[in-house]
Amino acid sequence: MSAPQVKGWCPGAFRPMMSGDGLVVRVRPPLGAISAAQATGLADLAERHGSGVVETTARANLQLRGVSEVAYPALMQDLRALGLLGDADSEARRNLVLDPFRAPGTEEIARGLLEGLSRSEFSGLPGKFGFVIDPGTPRRLAGISGDIRIEGAAGGMILRADGSATGRRLRDSEEAVTQALDLARWFLNSGGVGADGRGRMARHLMGGRGLLPSGLCGDVAPAEPVPAPAPGPRDGGLCAAAAFGQFSAAALRTLAEAGGPIRVTPYRMLYLPDVMIQPDHPDLILDPQDPLRRVQACTGAPGCPQASVTTRDLARRLARRIPDGQIWHISGCAKGCAFPRNADLTLVGRDGAFDLVKQGTPWDDPIRRGLSPLEIDKQIRP
Ligand code: SF4
Repeated sequence: MSAPQVKGWCPGAFRPMMSGDGLVVRVRPPLGAISAAQATGLADLAERHGSGVVETTARANLQLRGVSEVAYPALMQDLRALGLLGDADSEARRNLVLDPFRAPGTEEIARGLLEGLSRSEFSGLPGKFGFVIDPGTPRRLAGISGDIRIEGAAGGMILRADGSATGRRLRDSEEAVTQALDLARWFLNSGGVGADGRGRMARHLMGGRGLLPSGLCGDVAPAEPVPAPAPGPRDGGLCAAAAFGQFSAAALRTLAEAGGPIRVTPYRMLYLPDVMIQPDHPDLILDPQDPLRRVQACTGAPGCPQASVTTRDLARRLARRIPDGQIWHISGCAKGCAFPRNADLTLVGRDGAFDLVKQGTPWDDPIRRGLSPLEIDKQIRP
């Protein structure tokens, strides 16, 4: 399988990424939430400057795509007016994923980390280096990538470096912040960042280059994980999804009218903690049984320059054939952005056709190669 291009950084508002359909401009909402007014504003900006959709990302951010270089400066001005831009430096380090259902301590820890990470000593953290704040039990963010993890465990929170099976117990939110920052400092000082500016905690520990000091590790196992939530009512609020995590401007406005705040989840859904009614818009998925929930697909061609195949048209066609309980993944290339983990069936674009992987990831060895979309339609059975 040919290796996909790995950039080692994530596009941000200040560092947009050129894609096949224009710039991708990512917004990292402070504390992972936006107000109803900001949601309406973003919907307007997506229509005015972009492709008319607001995408949710696997790291609980929002992004506009299809932005022209001419429109970009005005978009930045409008994002700032909406209160969705910090400064370039702190935005790059605002790489936190919060429990969208807000187990006690979640926001307090996030605030402390944001304040700490704004210090210049942390400016060397790699662009993809992230924190997961998941202090409740059971764990809700177990499948979400993150280098420093504050997680629930029997008897309280723990701090766990990604790559370690266990972590050290934490007394309270204050200690969680202090210890997480100490761990980030240790990562920097122990050579976790390569000459190319990249680095991840698990790789650092696995390579044996870093041996965690006794104060930053422990023997407490994290709590059991729970599967990602389904769309529909949840914890007194509402989880709302959209096909492939893309919310049309009109659908986002409908959610905003139902009432803010709106929390961005890493499950490519939005969570409205104060909304019990079911907002009505055809682009919203509120039924957990919706067939489009069983298929994941990245942007594909022509939006992504690394793709040689279109993905979402095939995903829509296949969705109704996917058995209950299975997940299929249509990936434009072996990088697997939309679902970087095992799926029951994965189709990976390569040289204008698809390779087929069963029970694996897009970068695993395929059992069949070079299938055309027509052959897939005719032959693929679960
Ligand atoms: S997985 Fe899809 S979106 Fe990601 S780089 Fe490959 S083609 Fe592009």
